[in-house]
Amino acid sequence: MKIAVLAGDGIGPEIVAEALKVLEVFRGEGVSMELESALVGGVAVDHTGDPLPPETLALCQAADAILFGSIGGPQYDSLPREQRPERGLLRLRKELDLFANLRPAQVFPELAAASTLRADVVSGLDILIVRELTGDIYFGEPRGIRTNAAGEREGFNTMVYSESEIRRVAHWGFQAAQKRQRRLCSVDKMNVLECTQLWRDVVQEIAPQYPEVTLTHMLVDNAAMQLVRNPRQFDVIVTGNIFGDILSDEASMLTGSIGMLPSASLNAQGQGLYEPIHGSAPDIAGQGKANPLAQILSAAMMFRYSLNRADLADRIDHGVRHVLAQGLRTADIAQAGEPVVSTAQMGDAVVAALRAV
Ligand code: NAD
Repeated sequence: MKIAVLAGDGIGPEIVAEALKVLEVFRGEGVSMELESALVGGVAVDHTGDPLPPETLALCQAADAILFGSIGGPQYDSLPREQRPERGLLRLRKELDLFANLRPAQVFPELAAASTLRADVVSGLDILIVRELTGDIYFGEPRGIRTNAAGEREGFNTMVYSESEIRRVAHWGFQAAQKRQRRLCSVDKMNVLECTQLWRDVVQEIAPQYPEVTLTHMLVDNAAMQLVRNPRQFDVIVTGNIFGDILSDEASMLTGSIGMLPSASLNAQGQGLYEPIHGSAPDIAGQGKANPLAQILSAAMMFRYSLNRADLADRIDHGVRHVLAQGLRTADIAQAGEPVVSTAQMGDAVVAALRAV
């Protein structure tokens, strides 16, 4: 198992260090893993002028999986667009063709009270959002800002999806649903956007290949509303890049803490990039306050989806549930008055829980 480790900026190195402790437990048990670190994001700009240096890209291309921390920071916001840390991540996704983004939004029973929604609405929530990641209006051409015939500036982007792009991510949605509660909701805006009419048609054409999965379709505005009205109605949601971007952030907030949620981005070969959904949290970087659980759960997804070790993934998931049940809380998931542990203490507690099973 070849794993590229890209810690990045802000809290990235702190939380990746905790995930690496977990990997060391498995190594100690004889699981063979080759780990290599490389620069990405702002720290890569500082050292090389490029947020995705060629040697980092080469390492990632040769790896089975990439464990990614987070990138960005206010000191990079005024750089030219091509040098911004975010460009490094976008290029990495594009270069490796990581088209399927899996974002689970799960409410751990112990944390149901941390959600801004009532505990009776969110407790037991377990949604998986499958978002297309390499197409749609974010990448469509032509794009830009131009001066129109009236001499006024106008901005324009292109929403575009080919059949094959829709089909491959739809298969991911159906297959994920097969392994869960067998319900797939495809989200589009077919009443006004032709591009998403095609999305709906293609998803519908594939459905007979998965007779055991119940497929429904929902317009994106309704989906945004249903996610806060009755989120437990969803099992797996599959959608395009821009709708998935917005809905997955909305779904993540149902769970209460951004510091708990992992993600995976995969290509057709099963190669994947695993990262927490949050950013580099410059406001708490270097203070030992960051919650490392999203990063540790990202490592669990890595074992499940790219490294074919669901047994290790299950152990990590179990370890995380165990420390939450023990009452350990970093500041972001603590209720008022609850004692708080540091980033490293949380990581050590997960390691202790893993060693115990
Ligand atoms: P953010 O996710 O970094 O932080 C939002 C809030 O959540 C902050 O208050 C932060 O302290 C808190 N938070 C985030 N992760 C946490 C954790 N693990 N534990 C405890 N609290 C946590 O979003 P932002 O502040 O909008 O962005 C900061 C930087 O991150 C920006 O430069 C942005 O571009 C970048 N960013 C990077 C990624 C990525 O690496 N994939 C994603 C989003 C934003």
